[in-house]
Amino acid sequence: MANGIGRVVRGKSLNDPSFVAATLEADDLMTIRKLLADRSRWFDEEVVHAYENAFARWNGSLAAFAFMGGRAALSAAIAALGLRPGDEVIIPGYTCIVVPNAFAFAGVKTVCADIELDTYGLDASAAQKAITPNTRAILLHHLYGLVCRDYEAIIALAQKHGIYVIEDCTHSTGAEYKGMKVGNLGTVAFYSSEHSKVFTTGQGGLVTTNDAAIAARLRNAWEAAESPNPARVAGVLITLVYDYYKFAHPRRWLTGRFVAPLYRRRALISTTDDELRGRRPPHYGQRMPGALAVIGRQQLAKVDRFNARRRESAKHWDRWCENTKHAKPTVVPGSTPIFLRYPVLAAPEWKRDSAATARRLGTPLGVWFAGNYHPTQITIANCPHADEAVARCINFPTL
Ligand SMILES: *Cc1c(COP(=O)(O)O)cnc(C)c1O
Repeated sequence: MANGIGRVVRGKSLNDPSFVAATLEADDLMTIRKLLADRSRWFDEEVVHAYENAFARWNGSLAAFAFMGGRAALSAAIAALGLRPGDEVIIPGYTCIVVPNAFAFAGVKTVCADIELDTYGLDASAAQKAITPNTRAILLHHLYGLVCRDYEAIIALAQKHGIYVIEDCTHSTGAEYKGMKVGNLGTVAFYSSEHSKVFTTGQGGLVTTNDAAIAARLRNAWEAAESPNPARVAGVLITLVYDYYKFAHPRRWLTGRFVAPLYRRRALISTTDDELRGRRPPHYGQRMPGALAVIGRQQLAKVDRFNARRRESAKHWDRWCENTKHAKPTVVPGSTPIFLRYPVLAAPEWKRDSAATARRLGTPLGVWFAGNYHPTQITIANCPHADEAVARCINFPTL
């Protein structure tokens, strides 16, 4: 509290910027409360398809399919592309553990290639060197909301070799390249509405494509997937209520302390310890139920507004970089990033003692990727740029 009074005196907000669930607003809380009180539409498929169609239209894609996570959406893509044991996929040596896990669960071998340090994307020349006769796909990503530097080069490389491109757009929903949303140049793309991503349904994700045959196979994967049981849906809804009071409420400095704890015990976590160790959770791969699609549709309508705010805050961090002689993240010509986070390569000590750095800079600090496979400490051979990003890349909040 004393700290709070100091902040008011200095004209600063009592709220810290949020890394989680920052796009939840009062109308979302109202919708979540209504859903908790009335279960009649929880498993209504029409509601899900309305959300999928709205996303596909907004994203400029032929079709979209909603699942219980970006990782489940990726698994549906793996099935739809017909990837199977013996096949190889090239992935960046700097990603989230759930990405290699999705391939491992399907028996598909992942081969890591290094990233570049301009946008933390897959390096096209490293990807080229990793191609073997068994390579069936390349996975590229647009990390932190930046459009990756080698986007077109990787698409061209894949076309030359007759292999698929999977786009990980989990950090970059709404980012654009040459007037088109990311995710539309590759064969398939997946997005996340997990609570630390661009918009939130607590847990959730979508897969999109512009290929009619692959869309039909994604539809089959969706039909074949199970729905979460009512207890799990309730768990996600309660988690959203918790997140709202803890991270999003306009007076969260108060509600985070006095209201959020009422919901804490029943809140779910996104990735269990078992999953971090590479074990497939029993609920893995489920499709999105109507309850979360209702929230997704409401959140989708807010994405452009929040992304514009993120771009505004990035200007503040641009000035910070100029003042402190740090390199600004690269904005690829023709791209419009969304800055889910603002990444900076800082001295390794800054990342190692992130709590001290946060205090010194007076901002919450993100330290995604303390290992090559976030959030584990797993290391990968022969990816020096990825290792450098693991050692040095910190990120600042933009909401
Ligand atoms: C979050 C994330 C995913 C997976 O999304 P979920 O919705 O959490 O399953 C995939 N790739 C990256 C880089 C991510 O950060």
